[in-house]
Amino acid sequence: MTATITADGRFERIGGPGTTECPTCGAIGPMTVTAFPAFSTLKAERPAQVGVVLQCSACKAPVFLRYRARAFRDDRVELNPLPQVVEHPPERFSLSYLPPPVAARFREALACFSSGFWQAFAAMCRQTARATFEEVGDAGRMRIFDLVAEVQELGDIDDATFAAVRRIIFDPDAGRQEPEYDRRQAAVLLETMKDLLTQTYVRRAKLRQALKVRRFFANQAAGIDEDEPEAPVRISPLKDRPA
Ligand SMILES: [Zn+2]
Repeated sequence: MTATITADGRFERIGGPGTTECPTCGAIGPMTVTAFPAFSTLKAERPAQVGVVLQCSACKAPVFLRYRARAFRDDRVELNPLPQVVEHPPERFSLSYLPPPVAARFREALACFSSGFWQAFAAMCRQTARATFEEVGDAGRMRIFDLVAEVQELGDIDDATFAAVRRIIFDPDAGRQEPEYDRRQAAVLLETMKDLLTQTYVRRAKLRQALKVRRFFANQAAGIDEDEPEAPVRISPLKDRPA
């Protein structure tokens, strides 16, 4: 696997994944290299990092990569073949289905994740979980405990990684010095939070919305007058459910 900028003005990548995720449209695929520094400039200045611009074939947006320079030869500049992605695609979630206090905190959590701020992301997930527990009450909290256990089992996630996730979601002893969270733990935490919020709020809201639309058309066919359903339906918390 190599990446080089040659003396005759070419950028060459051999081996490696060859695909990049577009931070603008989320498409994953091969991209065209559109810009990189001139070989003569690199030889003269010998920078530690080299910026390369690709173009997404799906949406034509520029995609920026940062390579570490490895060696400056007479005929080429060798780069570390694994580039650092400069922009990350924004994490998306159907926030409109969440109660406002939960949505406000999870929106910030997603922004922290997209920017690679793992500690801030963990802190906002803790706040999101706390807002959710306040919303759902004790019965809902027990249900979320089961949901999270299910995520570990379904995802086949190891205990060490998942202990960090549980600590964020359930640890009441917040405020202590936090351990360091890395990208891998943050990714598991993100998927756990998404599943938890989907199961707690989104799934039910979508189901109710779908049923409401079905009922509207069934009533219309039967000649029963009913107001048109709105989308999405505002939902009530889990605490109105039997445990
Ligand atoms: Zn794109």
